[in-house]
Amino acid sequence: MLDEMKRYVGFTPSDEENLRSLQPHVRPLVSAVVDRFYDELFRHQATREVFSGGHEQVARLRATLKEWLGELFDGVYDESYLRKRFRIGVMHVRVQLPQRFMFLGMELVRQELTQHLRKKDLPRIEELLESVHRILTLDLAIMLESYKESYSDQIRRLERSSMEDRLTRAERLAEIGQLAASLAHEIKNPLAGISGAIQVIGEHMSAGNPHRPIVGEILRQINRLDATVKDLLLYARPRPPKLVNVSLGGIVERVLTLLKEEPAMNGRRVEYARPKTEVQVLGDDGQLEQVLLNLMLNAADASPPGRAIHVAIEADTRWSRLTVVDQGKGMSPEILAKANEPFFTTKAKGTGLGLPICQRIVQSHGGMLHLESAAGRGTKVTLELPAGEE
Ligand code: ADP
Ligand code: MG
Repeated sequence: MLDEMKRYVGFTPSDEENLRSLQPHVRPLVSAVVDRFYDELFRHQATREVFSGGHEQVARLRATLKEWLGELFDGVYDESYLRKRFRIGVMHVRVQLPQRFMFLGMELVRQELTQHLRKKDLPRIEELLESVHRILTLDLAIMLESYKESYSDQIRRLERSSMEDRLTRAERLAEIGQLAASLAHEIKNPLAGISGAIQVIGEHMSAGNPHRPIVGEILRQINRLDATVKDLLLYARPRPPKLVNVSLGGIVERVLTLLKEEPAMNGRRVEYARPKTEVQVLGDDGQLEQVLLNLMLNAADASPPGRAIHVAIEADTRWSRLTVVDQGKGMSPEILAKANEPFFTTKAKGTGLGLPICQRIVQSHGGMLHLESAAGRGTKVTLELPAGEE
């Protein structure tokens, strides 16, 4: 690489000769050049910031620059010269010196050397200065090269660490999911057994038995457990959706019919504006019903009795949209930020899995689920899905 660069700028053995002959003249100038260099560095905010190490660091850097200047006139420009010079760029990257100052700094060195050497009345001065310019250009090229390598090292390191973060997070989630799924599975069957047994006991109790309400309460609690276990299984073991053309309106109507029987909805009106034309989406109707059901139950939980929940559908050529708008208690920005996290709930009887299940299903459909909410005013959930094919 060095030979190639030398050829490029026409750097020949006579340049080496010239530089070596300048050595005794440069040596007394070195201190003045270094002073000017650091005066300039400290005058500017962007370069001043690089010196976080205080006086000690500056003293060390001054010594390095002196050495660097001295070696410039040693007359030997071989591979070991290249390696030594290479380290300067690496150091610049490490202290985060903005690269433009490397250029500007080199120009400063050039100006200072030229100015001082011109005063000395040396024979063939123009030719000697040409050699100085050539070696400075070579050094600049070397530094640029080392910047490039240090930067790509730095970028590779950054990318690797963020990739590792993502991987461990994904692995951890997958593990938790599996654990949850097997646990849920283990709980399901005994729960069904307990529920059956309690029902039998209940049926054998006389109407006046004072323990009857207790049996009823046990059954209600078992139902809650059962719902949690079902949610957990849905969340932890997502089924890949079977994507076919389905009618979004059909899904809404089925879910609304189902909700008429749902005690959790009591007193909440649902207003649904049936679209004039059929809206198709590419989706799995069972899973999409599940999404809408969860959204409706959340809306009902948040709404005071009698307050309407509005469901609407719209579509353009690429996307079909379903919105569920409630005028309930809404969410503060803090709650909104956490609403999609698994197990986050503000409800005494919540599982905190409703929205995460929705998000997962919607994502596997290539769609989006977007929440907007204002505390005390209400919530709007927009479900966006790829439009079905004609
Ligand atoms: P869960 O309903 O079991 O609490 P979700 O994942 O469905 O779990 O919802 C998480 C939380 O987000 C809820 O506990 C609630 O605080 C908030 N939330 C969701 N939907 C609404 C809504 N429509 N209005 C107000 N808050 C909501
Ligand atoms: Mg919910």
